[in-house]
Amino acid sequence: METCVFCKISAGEIPADVLFQDDEVMAFRDINPLAPVHVLVIPRRYIPALSEVTEAVNPLIVRLVWLANRIAKEQGIVETGYRVVINSGADGRQMVPHLHVHVLGGKQLDDKLG
Ligand code: AMP
Repeated sequence: METCVFCKISAGEIPADVLFQDDEVMAFRDINPLAPVHVLVIPRRYIPALSEVTEAVNPLIVRLVWLANRIAKEQGIVETGYRVVINSGADGRQMVPHLHVHVLGGKQLDDKLG
């Protein structure tokens, strides 16, 4: 997707504070962090939203969860706890239409999810 900001980060066309990348997945710091640790984990390939995920990409989804946990370990928030969030669609307040997983921690997070 030519206009997708996370595709541009994946392609190295715009800068990001990248913590991990391989052929399939990538992790970088959120530009507007909501917690001391706020990292986004994305598939390198374009998938617009969680709602578009099919069984065919099961291994990729497992890999996103693996990377979210790896980031939590590397950022030192496993013991204190962390939250993993995927927003999907308008009511879910998904702003960037490229599937991404938020990894949040480093403070006690808001008790309200909805
Ligand atoms: P969501 O509301 O789930 O779509 O979240 C999108 C997230 O992407 C927000 O937390 C933004 O702060 C973050 N974001 C948008 N543009 C960038 C960027 N260029 N680099 C890093 N994070 C970004």
